[in-house]
Parts: sequence; C-alpha cells; structure tokens
Amino acid sequence: MMRLPKFEYRAARTVAEALEWMGEFSSAADKDPQAHAMLMAGGTDVLPNMKHRVFTPQVVVGLRGVAALRGIAYDPEHGLRLGAGVRLSELAASPIIRARYPALARAAEVISTPQLRQMGTLGGNLCLDTRCNYYNQSEFWRKARDYCLKRGSEICRVAPNGTGCYAVSSCDTAPVLIALGATARIASRAGDRILPIADLYHDDGIHPVRLHDGDVLTDLYVPSPPGDWRSTYEKYRVRGAFDFPIASVAAVARFDGAQCADVRLVLQGVATRPLPLPEVEALLRGQPWTPDLLDAAAELGYKAAHPMDNTAGTIALRRRIVRAYIRRALDALIAPSVIH
Ligand SMILES: Cc1cc2nc3c(=O)[nH]c(=O)nc-3n(C[C@H](O)[C@H](O)[C@H](O)COP(=O)(O)OP(=O)(O)OC[C@H]3O[C@@H](n4cnc5c(N)ncnc54)[C@H](O)[C@@H]3O)c2cc1C
Ligand code: SF4
Repeated sequence: MMRLPKFEYRAARTVAEALEWMGEFSSAADKDPQAHAMLMAGGTDVLPNMKHRVFTPQVVVGLRGVAALRGIAYDPEHGLRLGAGVRLSELAASPIIRARYPALARAAEVISTPQLRQMGTLGGNLCLDTRCNYYNQSEFWRKARDYCLKRGSEICRVAPNGTGCYAVSSCDTAPVLIALGATARIASRAGDRILPIADLYHDDGIHPVRLHDGDVLTDLYVPSPPGDWRSTYEKYRVRGAFDFPIASVAAVARFDGAQCADVRLVLQGVATRPLPLPEVEALLRGQPWTPDLLDAAAELGYKAAHPMDNTAGTIALRRRIVRAYIRRALDALIAPSVIH
C-alpha cells in the first residue's frame, strides 16, 4: 500500500485566505516538485501523485470549504457561470448543461469513475498535470531510471534529443470549454484577471497551466450558445469504464440551412495542451458537409496530430483514432438527434 508523505493541511474558507497562505510559500501552482505549498480541490489527482512522490508539498491548501467556488448559474443573455469548485458529477447531471452544453456534460461524465467524479472538481480538472508513462509511476520506478526532465533530471526519456517535455494534456473538460469559447477568472494576490481557456495552456509538458504563485482559478464563463449550436465530445480510452483519453475530439458547430456557418474542433490527449484544428475548421466552414468533405477534414486532422510514444496506445493507433473520432464527431453534429 502506498502511503502519503507527511504534510500540513490548511482548509481555506475564502479565496483570500487561500491566496494568503499560498503567498507564504514558493510557487506551487506550476507543479514545481520542490514547491512547498499546493492547492487541492477534490484531491483526486493531488493525493495519488503525492503517494507517488510526484508532488511533495509541505503544505496543502484545501479549497473544498470555499463557498465562493461553488454554483452553476445560467441566463440566456450572459450564458453559464461555473464555480471552479463545481464537482464533475454536478456538471454531468446539471439539466441546463445537459440541455444547452451537452458536450460539456458528456466530457464530465466520461472522466474517471462515479466515486472520483463525486470528489473531483472542474477547476482541478482544468489544472490537471500533464501525463506520461515515464512520469506517472511510483517513486521507486522513476528513481530506478534516474527520473526525467519533468522531475528535475537532464533528459526526456521519450525524446532524448528533443527540446522539452512532451507529457500529455489529458483533462477532458478543457477541449470542450475551448471549443465553446469559455473564459476563466483567476484570482491572484495582485488582483483578478480573465483569460480565454485556450490561453490557460502552454505548449510545455513541465508547466502546462499558465498559473503562477498560487493563483486560484475561481470561475468559468461559457457564452450562451445561439439556439442552433450543436456540440459533442468523442473520447477514446482503453477501458470503457474509466480511463484518461488516448485521443478525443471536442466539436461545436452551427448551420445555416445545409451549410456550416461556423465550427470549432479541439483535440485532446495527443499533445502537451489541447490542440485546436484551425485548418480543419477552415475546410469545413461555409460548406455543405458531404461525406467526401468530412473524410477530407478527418484526414487533415490526422496530419495535424503528432503524439509521442508516452501514453497507452501506439503513435499509429492514436493518430488513427484522431482520424476516426474527428469523423465520428462531425457525423454526430449532423445527426438529427443532436439539436443543441
Ligand atoms: C483513476 C483515475 C482516473 C482518472 N481519469 C480521468 C479522466 O478520464 N479524465 C480526466 O480528465 N481526469 C481523470 N482523472 C484525474 C482527476 O480525477 C480529474 O481530473 C479531476 O477533475 C481533478 O479534480 P480535483 O478537484 O480532484 O483536482 P485536485 O487533485 O484537487 O487538483 C488537481 C490540480 O489542480 C490544482 N487546482 C485544483 N483546484 C484549483 C483551483 N481552483 N485553482 C488553481 N488550481 C487548482 C491543484 O493544485 C492540482 O495541481 C483521473 C484520476 C484518477 C485517480
Ligand atoms: S515527456 Fe519526457 S520529460 Fe516529459 S514526463 Fe515524459 S519522459 Fe519526462
């Protein structure tokens, strides 16, 4: 049985309190292994990683008691406001999200297991660390191989001649929120700022999330979709019961008669950050979606995806999944049953 290391737990009651405590310690939100303090919401990623000694904070600042981070609110003019502390199970079950943002509900309901969705939060999901076969291992395993770049060593085990870390972004809600044009409110000791979710991510497996010095993600805002927006999330995973994405596709589109008026596509699980597909979108926009066009779009997406050999599934399989799942997502958007 793997045990947690010793640490001090501080339960914050307000965002200000969390910021103050995080400010007492060195930068923790960037997943620096030497960080002294770390935020924790549901703990479904932080605690297993602490057991593996991937994270070794001396202090954990808990966000579960912060009432301001809760709540789901919708109005047709301003859209959806989600507290970062909303649990994944609430997101998946919310009638308004299921009706107006079905891809988001779908992404939440295919994350991990029912028990973990009861604990895990939207904010924790968006700030999830990147994953790699050489990183998400026990301390014993990693030490035996002399660690890797993401854990302070000199070399990447996946691409020894590469220029950085290629650990994979695997959080299921991020590609959907990017496709839906969502923004995030981030609280810091210097004040609040609003950032498009797309800008929350770096192309950097070591510091994947653009937060620093204990910043707290507080709210997500998703614009109100015009009545005829359709959205879907198609995820391929090894175990259907629960697993991280081997590759997945978030797709949002609206149509003007038979023609596509607008479309957004974002891949997940194949790069260090969620990967938008602007060239595929340009091919599809303004066109009637014929089977040949959809095949061409899937092929273009296949060419844009360059996963590394660092998660389950071979590179070839993951690229083939990208092609098949883009096609599957586009088919779903034009299926008569999808009317959102
Ligand atoms: C067996 C298993 C299967 C899983 N499967 C999946 C899966 O299929 N898809 C998937 O996406 N995830 C999966 N996960 C990962 C995890 O359960 C979810 O991503 C979950 O949403 C994380 O939320 P949390 O609240 O538990 O995060 P925590 O573990 O509390 O935190 C995760 C990270 O977010 C930071 N953080 C949390 N809240 C905030 C905030 N408000 N502001 C700033 N930083 C914050 C923490 O510091 C930490 O770095 C799985 C985990 C396990 C153990
Ligand atoms: S991609 Fe390379 S540096 Fe990054 S976690 Fe994997 S082995 Fe380590």
